[in-house]
Amino acid sequence: MKSKVFFKPCTIFDPPLLSKVARELFEKMIEEEHIELLEEVPLKVHFGEKGNTTFLSPACFDGVIDVLEEKGIKTRFMDSNVLYRGSRTTREEHLKTAREHGFTRIPITIADGHHGEETQIVSIEGEYFDSVILGKAYEQFDQFVVLAHFKGHNQAGFGGAMKQLAMGFASRAGKMAQHAGIRPWVKEDKCIACETCLEYCDHSAITIDEVAHIDPELCVGCAACIAGCPTGAVAHDWSGENFIEKLAEYAYGAQKDKEMIYINYLLNITELCDCVGRPLDIIADNIGVFASTDAVAIDKACLDTLQEREGSKLFEKGRATLVHAHKLGMGSLEYELIEI
Ligand code: SF4
Ligand code: SF4
Repeated sequence: MKSKVFFKPCTIFDPPLLSKVARELFEKMIEEEHIELLEEVPLKVHFGEKGNTTFLSPACFDGVIDVLEEKGIKTRFMDSNVLYRGSRTTREEHLKTAREHGFTRIPITIADGHHGEETQIVSIEGEYFDSVILGKAYEQFDQFVVLAHFKGHNQAGFGGAMKQLAMGFASRAGKMAQHAGIRPWVKEDKCIACETCLEYCDHSAITIDEVAHIDPELCVGCAACIAGCPTGAVAHDWSGENFIEKLAEYAYGAQKDKEMIYINYLLNITELCDCVGRPLDIIADNIGVFASTDAVAIDKACLDTLQEREGSKLFEKGRATLVHAHKLGMGSLEYELIEI
């Protein structure tokens, strides 16, 4: 069955204008898809790594917040901590970066606690996982508006809603499971035996003599020590075997039993993602904003439109995630594009 994807062209990256476009699409979706909004509907966003200049600024979302507020529905911004050491590794750093990037209009909840210790397990029947590890705070809500910047990623390829679900809902342990599924280790030449990682490890998996050692039998792969180490001595595998499929399985788990409304902004298109803490080149023309209740269909519509306009094979990368998600029963690869 074809899913509906709503689309409004917009070729200028102008946040107030994008806010109006998103509002129009959101209202159209509510009407056409007969969506009943619940008492509180959080906005899943990406606050942008410090130094990145092409992430979606909060002014792009004002129109969606206006609609919710006019209907008396509570909302908040949500995201979970990143796996690597950066400006969003712990809750305090994450909140600071979000505020510096202007996310001040509504409350913010970092879903997986200070450094990824607050988690929930969601059972799935995947090829690689029988459960996924997500941020605990997402558990209390049944409906989300997932606001995604459609752009590239060095391993995942191009995507929007699917990556917001897979990486954005995963706790730090869930992110590590997708990237490698194995335990971290200590780079001895970088370890100064400061013992900070001992405080972060709730599983007594670390011992320290001249340097720290991680016991693979005791380590549960929570990734907390990566967040705590001040020298970057705790390393993990980014090789990403079957990463694309694992990403799809996490996306599936994140939206399972939830009502999701997806809005993808196909503007400021970069080859790498908003987690990169430096300015990135824009590699394609701005196209517009898409909305749907189907994460597979909306990302497929964005990929198809991008490839049709740009004609580059580069934008092929990202389709395998959608195929695996479709196989899991998550969404449709066929869609009806409705321009408004
Ligand atoms: S926190 Fe990092 S530098 Fe300090 S002991 Fe642990 S691994 Fe070594
Ligand atoms: S050693 Fe393992 S269990 Fe302990 S904090 Fe690091 S990843 Fe978590």
